[in-house]
Amino acid sequence: MKNKIFKYDFLVVGGGLIGALTALNLYKKKLKVLVIDNKTNIPFDQRTLAVNANSKDFLVQLGVWKNIKSKPQLINKIVIKDFVNSSPLIFNSKKEAMGNVIYNTELLKIARKELIKLNILKTPVNKSLEILVPNKLLSIDKKNYIFKKIIICVGKSIVSDSKQKSIIFDNGVYSYVGFFKHKRNHNSVAYEFFNKEGPLAVLPCPSLNNKKSTFIYSTNEQTSYSKIQSIIKKSFSATHGNIIFDKKINKFPVIPHIAKYNKNFIYIGDSLKSIHPVAGQGWNLGVKDIQTLSNLIDQFPIESKMFNSIYYSRRAIDSSIYFAFTSLVNFLYENHSSFNKRLIKVGYKGLQNFSLVRDLFIKQAMGRLNLID
Ligand SMILES: Cc1cc2nc3c(=O)[nH]c(=O)nc-3n(C[C@H](O)[C@H](O)[C@H](O)COP(=O)(O)OP(=O)(O)OC[C@H]3O[C@@H](n4cnc5c(N)ncnc54)[C@H](O)[C@@H]3O)c2cc1C
Repeated sequence: MKNKIFKYDFLVVGGGLIGALTALNLYKKKLKVLVIDNKTNIPFDQRTLAVNANSKDFLVQLGVWKNIKSKPQLINKIVIKDFVNSSPLIFNSKKEAMGNVIYNTELLKIARKELIKLNILKTPVNKSLEILVPNKLLSIDKKNYIFKKIIICVGKSIVSDSKQKSIIFDNGVYSYVGFFKHKRNHNSVAYEFFNKEGPLAVLPCPSLNNKKSTFIYSTNEQTSYSKIQSIIKKSFSATHGNIIFDKKINKFPVIPHIAKYNKNFIYIGDSLKSIHPVAGQGWNLGVKDIQTLSNLIDQFPIESKMFNSIYYSRRAIDSSIYFAFTSLVNFLYENHSSFNKRLIKVGYKGLQNFSLVRDLFIKQAMGRLNLID
């Protein structure tokens, strides 16, 4: 028994929002999977998660959506405004809701509970990524394992790991995330306002009376909480009525990056890439990673030598496009030259006047646009 080797298909390193869902998806496909996380407790995180239509379908199919108890808030319309153009851009989908807003910790707790029930989560297990090699003996909790594939879902901590070199675009942006209650119903509308100092997103937040919202304000300028609150009051009092802020505002560094290809690993979620939050797509792109992996498993044997590189090339295209797009939008709005303003106006007009471009944008926001698969 002491020398027994446990043979698994997949090791998932990191049981966060993406790692836990990846493992549940693999388990559902009847693959043998083990998850390790270097922390046992789930960190306290009050943030919400904008789940687009594609990601919601994924969570429904996985059987976790039905366990969400705090009322998900629909996003039926997206309003985009900026300081260059006079009228807003308005996007909605007639067929279905564009997305839902839920609490991220609630989803993580549901997914983690499932992993524990299935007995496929081990914590705390701290392994340096350097010693993780597929098809080589690995000792975890005094047991010997061999994994055919190793999936890395350690989130943004990959950026600080100098061995897993990434393409990094750090221009000192921070995101400030908080909540406010308001007198009027939010009417299931999400907003993205490009202010001179940076983009401000306001989304409906889970609540029983539809009178609570969350904001994400990103800037590389010196700011203060009172300044952020006054920007929000100025921009949203007309639509939301009287605004009362929750005391706490959380600050997060924004470090867009794409991990380089590593033949030993399959990177998923924030480990593969993170983008500027102007697109609000970060987590939803992680779900796309899981779906791409899942489709690949249906098409190729996981033992194939090409498997990791095919996965990487499929996701790299999508990730690079989003990375380039969000970085460009951010750059254009950050640098207030007349040339940039002209470019913004051209893009805006395209979205306003051409229904094909608008439809593509809506499909993209809903996760219904497959660039490659
Ligand atoms: C500015 C900004 C704002 C954002 N705002 C939001 C928001 O409001 N809501 C939201 O949901 N998302 C937000 N996101 C995106 C968010 O980062 C992702 O949605 C999501 O948390 C990523 O999931 P993940 O599983 O990839 O990483 P994580 O959730 O970070 O999970 C990583 C897991 O890996 C574990 N781990 C790390 N290193 C190791 C190791 N060496 N060995 C074993 N385990 C390890 C950690 O303990 C953790 O459990 C934001 C992103 C940015 C850039």
